[in-house]
Amino acid sequence: MEPELFQRIYQSIANKESTYDGIYYTGVRTTRIVCRPSCRARTPKPENITLYTSFEDAVRSGFRPCKRCKPETPGAHAPDAALAAEIDAHLAAHMSRSLTLESLAAAHRISPYHLQRTYKRVRGCSPAERLAELRLAAAKRMLLEEDKSMTMVSEAIGYRSASHFAAWFRRVTGMAPSVYREQQPPRKAGDSKE
Ligand SMILES: [Zn+2]
Repeated sequence: MEPELFQRIYQSIANKESTYDGIYYTGVRTTRIVCRPSCRARTPKPENITLYTSFEDAVRSGFRPCKRCKPETPGAHAPDAALAAEIDAHLAAHMSRSLTLESLAAAHRISPYHLQRTYKRVRGCSPAERLAELRLAAAKRMLLEEDKSMTMVSEAIGYRSASHFAAWFRRVTGMAPSVYREQQPPRKAGDSKE
């Protein structure tokens, strides 16, 4: 490897940046452990590092995966579609919390920039747009199919107050949630179509 490239990668390791995650794997000869370049563990000395272009190669050379950065699990090095699917699952499971691009990226150990770009390329919309869609669909379903109060519906989709939820719902659908609930005919049991 060219010394210049090694220097660039080593800088990203020292700064714990995810730039080279999934592209290179950091084998640390002194500990026989392999890490993602962005691993939060102490930065190894450059002379102790062997870089691999695949996780499997590092393992074949006798390195064990780091317990901290888990280079073997999907994350930045997962195929883009797998990453998008992981993000979708995360959004659906946590829509009652306040989710930011930063927290989402941290949970998946990738940079916000990489997350935003990859997700958009695969799904055609940003994670925030997707989250809004999921929240709207969940709110509509709860309004029509469940006997929840406005406060309960609001909290279930991450709004701290019914008035914030109502303002958002009205902005997106052009109608207050109470009006939406009343004007739709009640659904028959077993009819789960959107
Ligand atoms: Zn590590």
